[in-house]
Amino acid sequence: MIINKIEPQGFCKGVINAIKIVKETLEKEKNIYLLGEIIHNKNVINELTNLGAITIPTEGKTRLELLDEIESGTVIFSAHGVSPKVYEKARMKSLKIIDATCPMVLLVHNNIIKKINEGYDVIYIGTKNHPEVEGVLGISSSINFVSSINDIENLNINNNKIYATNQTTLSKYDIENIYEQLKNKYPNILIDNKICNATTIRQEAIKNQPKADLCIIVGDKLSSNTKKLVKVSETIAKIKTIQCEDLSSLNMDDLKNVNVVNISSGASTPDYIVDEIIDYLKKK
Ligand code: SF4
Repeated sequence: MIINKIEPQGFCKGVINAIKIVKETLEKEKNIYLLGEIIHNKNVINELTNLGAITIPTEGKTRLELLDEIESGTVIFSAHGVSPKVYEKARMKSLKIIDATCPMVLLVHNNIIKKINEGYDVIYIGTKNHPEVEGVLGISSSINFVSSINDIENLNINNNKIYATNQTTLSKYDIENIYEQLKNKYPNILIDNKICNATTIRQEAIKNQPKADLCIIVGDKLSSNTKKLVKVSETIAKIKTIQCEDLSSLNMDDLKNVNVVNISSGASTPDYIVDEIIDYLKKK
């Protein structure tokens, strides 16, 4: 079997930074709570749990609700970011706050706050119920949320100053269509595409992957950037694609009649998980 490892893949800077923050905190303190999954990868969460971190699992709850489960100690906010209300509630509970929000997400928060203060109506494009989106929408109830191109016709904004921005891990190919439609509806709109560099270069690599019988994208089911890599591979590179979390979740039936396989991973997938799958495939 020919195996092509598509680069770049694996941890982005934001994920490396979040894991480093948690590990450094664990060396110094006890009673460390992670508000939701620090990144979307079970193996990393298990590793941090073994080191002493306590993850408060999201389980459909908001970050604000999850705070009810922490009475004292240190709370670490995940790489996805939280809304100002979560900060306020954590302070009211006298928790020590450590923020592992990715700087790219923080930039989106700051830009939105600035534009609202300048009198703009804000449009934010993202995926429903994703923690990054929850954090941004918690900034102000006035933010207009768009989760798909179909939402644009329902927008009813009467302001010459409109600012549009987005979740950092969306598909760079989908967002171009959404922004084009928004520009048609609001010609003066100020567009600020904030898909992060890590997401962009991983999607471009998948778009330009060599021909193969199968592409395997390794990453957690909840990982937004992983799901977008799958979509780019299927719809733009037009290669049969599967997503798996690790070797144990790889469906062997998918490998039947496969002679050439491409493999990549989301920005929250540790390298060793991909390497394990590659080692297995090499023996096939
Ligand atoms: S994918 Fe982008 S926004 Fe998300 S943590 Fe990584 S660098 Fe930050």
